[in-house]
Amino acid sequence: MLLKRYVVLAERCTACQRCLAVCPVGAIELSEAGIPEIQIAKCRRCGACKKICSQQAIINRVKLRF
Ligand code: SF4
Ligand code: SF4
Repeated sequence: MLLKRYVVLAERCTACQRCLAVCPVGAIELSEAGIPEIQIAKCRRCGACKKICSQQAIINRVKLRF
């Protein structure tokens, strides 16, 4: 099974919070350091956060799961 998972690369993130504003299901929360974290259980994998991020700080990782 292929699993697509969106993750934030903290080293690229400028904490602009645009991804938080655009997520339709509120799946992105801020860490204590102010870096967004995508809650996998809530994420619908729509890709909106990745699209809006000008830093390319959000990537999707595809994982193989058996
Ligand atoms: S849109 Fe990109 S740079 Fe801005 S807070 Fe989200 S991940 Fe960070
Ligand atoms: S992929 Fe869509 S649902 Fe998931 S965190 Fe990004 S904007 Fe929210």
